[in-house]
Amino acid sequence: MNQPTKKSKPVPAANASPARPTREEAEAAVRTLLRWAGDDPSREGLIDTPARVVRSYEEFFAGYAMDPDEYLRRTFEEVEGYDEMVLLRDIRVESYCEHHMVPIIGRAHVAYMPHRRVVGISKLARVVEAYAKRLQIQEKMTVQIANTINQVLEPMGVAVVIEASHQCMTTRGVHKPGVSMITSHMLGVFRSNPTTRKELMALLGSSGGNPLHP
Ligand SMILES: [Zn+2]
Repeated sequence: MNQPTKKSKPVPAANASPARPTREEAEAAVRTLLRWAGDDPSREGLIDTPARVVRSYEEFFAGYAMDPDEYLRRTFEEVEGYDEMVLLRDIRVESYCEHHMVPIIGRAHVAYMPHRRVVGISKLARVVEAYAKRLQIQEKMTVQIANTINQVLEPMGVAVVIEASHQCMTTRGVHKPGVSMITSHMLGVFRSNPTTRKELMALLGSSGGNPLHP
């Protein structure tokens, strides 16, 4: 994905919306879906399901209540002139397809070229999480992560690569398990300097698979 990008504002927290339904309304909606699926929401095994589903949604979509910019505000400037690439590889991504509301599971690689300051590496993973835990399409998520790091940290460049498999393709529709989608968004030196981009690709390809994420 290499189109020029505009500032993509984080979606406001869901609980900031006046139209947000109550928990009871959300649970009633789950009962409707259970009936739609052909089951009986009043049978013993399903009786607590609506409450569990609604609690699960709070986890799945926790990103709406996160402010990704905030994670990058605290930076470190005592870096002894460190000016080479910082790469965080294999960040687990658990997101949800906005068309089918089923999981998108994969990993993200986030690189940036610091300009006088660096950020705690866990914060890069937090930014990924804040955008992943929402209804998404992979392309948009990739651009949002890169743009946020670029705008808040103001580095020399940012690169985000995401590889993920979409359950809407594996468990329904065309049923193609094993297919993964790779998206990338490059800004600054990662876009303008082929050597930097090549270095990134070499680092990403250097050890094959990652045992943490087979
Ligand atoms: Zn989908």
